[in-house]
Amino acid sequence: MKIIDAHIHTNFEIADSKAFAKKYNIDFSWKGLQNQLNKNNVIAAITISSSEKSQTPGESKELCQQALKEKRLLPVCSVHPNYVSKKYLNATKKLFDEHLIYGIKIFAGYHPVYPSNKKYFPFYKLAAKYDVPVVIHTGDTFGSQYLIKYAHPLDVDEIAVRFPKTKFIIAHSGNPWVRDTAEVVYKNENVYADVSAFCIGHFNKVSKNTLHDIRFALEYSHKPDRFLYGSDWPLVLMNQYIKLIKLAIPEKHHKKVFFENANRIFKLGLN
Ligand SMILES: [Zn+2]
Repeated sequence: MKIIDAHIHTNFEIADSKAFAKKYNIDFSWKGLQNQLNKNNVIAAITISSSEKSQTPGESKELCQQALKEKRLLPVCSVHPNYVSKKYLNATKKLFDEHLIYGIKIFAGYHPVYPSNKKYFPFYKLAAKYDVPVVIHTGDTFGSQYLIKYAHPLDVDEIAVRFPKTKFIIAHSGNPWVRDTAEVVYKNENVYADVSAFCIGHFNKVSKNTLHDIRFALEYSHKPDRFLYGSDWPLVLMNQYIKLIKLAIPEKHHKKVFFENANRIFKLGLN
């Protein structure tokens, strides 16, 4: 089965990611990435800014350069709440005009700013204009110094209503607030969720709750068209994570979740 991974990270300079990958013996390198994509038939991967510190549009230089070298990589750049003036909005717009990026990302929780903060509004309008999604970090954060109240998926309801023409992706399905995510997806036609990072590192045994939560979200919302497979590599090995999500998602929805939904939402036009 051909796969689109809707959530990976390829900034090989980020110290936290490097340390994590090393601890779990995951080859976090250009070569390691190629191996993972090849072995698992991942024909496209959305590569998302990794550092909440980078200015808007976050890591655009690195990610766009990588995408020139490797056609399977599709960059999504972040918006930093301290860099939202016209200058930064225009820099982001330019990347859309040049078809270099496929969406934008908000680091809710990593920044103590709610997604519904009006600072972000011009960027949501921009995303609607170019018909590209806004990926919002939700749920647990990688590090205890952050404030997770800003990363609760319920806040996405507010922007989904205010910006009905903008597509929002709840990253990590708000884990552990997966029920809340299911409701926000069910209620709002313009809200999607990725199922990345429910487990990280190496896992032999997976908690039954993990599988149950993902399945619940799909069944409660009745929206198999709105869930996207994503791994959050290098936090997991792709093959292990694909296996896990295949267990969580009923087989009849695999094609949608692993390929068709991302292909449609990011307008990739892949076969
Ligand atoms: Zn991530």
